[in-house]
Amino acid sequence: MNLDFDREHIWHPYTSMQEPLPVYPVKSAKGVHIELEDGRKLIDGMSSWWAAIHGYNHSVLNEAVQSQLEKMSHVMFGGLTHDPAIRLAEHLVELTPESLSKVFFCDSGSVSVEVAIKMALQFHQAAGRPQKHRLITVRSGYHGDTFAAMSVCDPVTGMHGLFSRVLPQQIFAEAPRCGFNEPCGEACVRDLKEKLEKHHHEVAAFVIEPVVQGAGGMRFYSPEYLRIARELCDRYDVLLIFDEIATGFGRTGKLFALEYTGIVPDILCLGKALTGGYMTLAATLTTHEVAAVISGSAPGVFMHGPTFMASPLACSVAVASVGLLEASKWKESVMRIEQALLSGLEACRTIPGVRDVRILGAIGVVELQKPVDMAAAQKHFVERGVWVRPFGTLVYLMPPYIVSEEELKQLTQAVCDVVAIEAASDGGRHDLR
Ligand SMILES: *Cc1c(COP(=O)(O)O)cnc(C)c1O
Repeated sequence: MNLDFDREHIWHPYTSMQEPLPVYPVKSAKGVHIELEDGRKLIDGMSSWWAAIHGYNHSVLNEAVQSQLEKMSHVMFGGLTHDPAIRLAEHLVELTPESLSKVFFCDSGSVSVEVAIKMALQFHQAAGRPQKHRLITVRSGYHGDTFAAMSVCDPVTGMHGLFSRVLPQQIFAEAPRCGFNEPCGEACVRDLKEKLEKHHHEVAAFVIEPVVQGAGGMRFYSPEYLRIARELCDRYDVLLIFDEIATGFGRTGKLFALEYTGIVPDILCLGKALTGGYMTLAATLTTHEVAAVISGSAPGVFMHGPTFMASPLACSVAVASVGLLEASKWKESVMRIEQALLSGLEACRTIPGVRDVRILGAIGVVELQKPVDMAAAQKHFVERGVWVRPFGTLVYLMPPYIVSEEELKQLTQAVCDVVAIEAASDGGRHDLR
């Protein structure tokens, strides 16, 4: 493998072309293991960024891709349709709350957020409220790397502060302070309430990751916050957009995190684990009402349509992945992982320099007081036979659901070891993502 060429010519996510951090060459991946070119096998603690929930190289998912490939890998979605898209939409409509009945397929999570935002803007435009064109969100959020998505990422931790001058200026309320198991008091929603009172006439939608804030801080908060948010959105004619790109498909212990809340958003974004980590695909779901208002007023159509919309190859593997999930005891697996993370990461709590340890479903987070030297930490992890990629002050685990007890022990032990090393060092480079 020509690693010099990689170093010289290929951007990796959030990296420098001048001083790129080392990247580890992968030969193959199977089950919970990522095999490096030199033969070392690493237990995957990341599910390739929330996506590979069934593990890698799964025979059922392989078969879905192969049999679809024999038929067609892709056809345009303008004027044509196909069974993989129809079957996937059937699954998504069936699995999500009843009112979310209209599905828009697109290429990636970020694009599904763009689509959600466009839907909200077009909805208010069509309803005769064009002044409702801004968004409200909370701090510590992450919604993707494209422009409208960047505008609702946390201005500090959301990695996009650099672009603040060109981004639409959205309204940021304080991040929910109430922990997952805590009641959501008046103080917790006050800022959101005040900002909505003040700005509602210009606000199209409230965008938020329900229950778990991912890349903007790995924070868990009370579902009650979202029930209150729903009431406020209703009061002020503001659409509620849930970004479940990270939380969807079981990660938090519910199939969708919205199930913790008892309320339903007007728009829902799904991505990441949708194809079991095989291919890029995302979906934006909305209600009959939003779709009807958009379609009922000039121009009478929703103004979006990517070239690779509803890729048959991606849809077919998504159908297989969702089917696999439904047929599996995923909930038991996630609860089992939760228990193993609780007991395995407990030891991190007493390490000096650790600010917090928190676990929800198959997500385990160790937050340090100061940022981690990512390259050094990664090297330590690889030496311990695991794949974990910290960012900022966070070292976290979100393994594939098929991970075993033994492998979880090795993962959590490695996290405790490396956290102890990192907390004791005075740090080096601090990289993102
Ligand atoms: C990853 C992520 C996105 C962006 O998805 P991409 O596929 O990387 O574009 C958006 N929202 C949340 C909550 C995410 O975790």
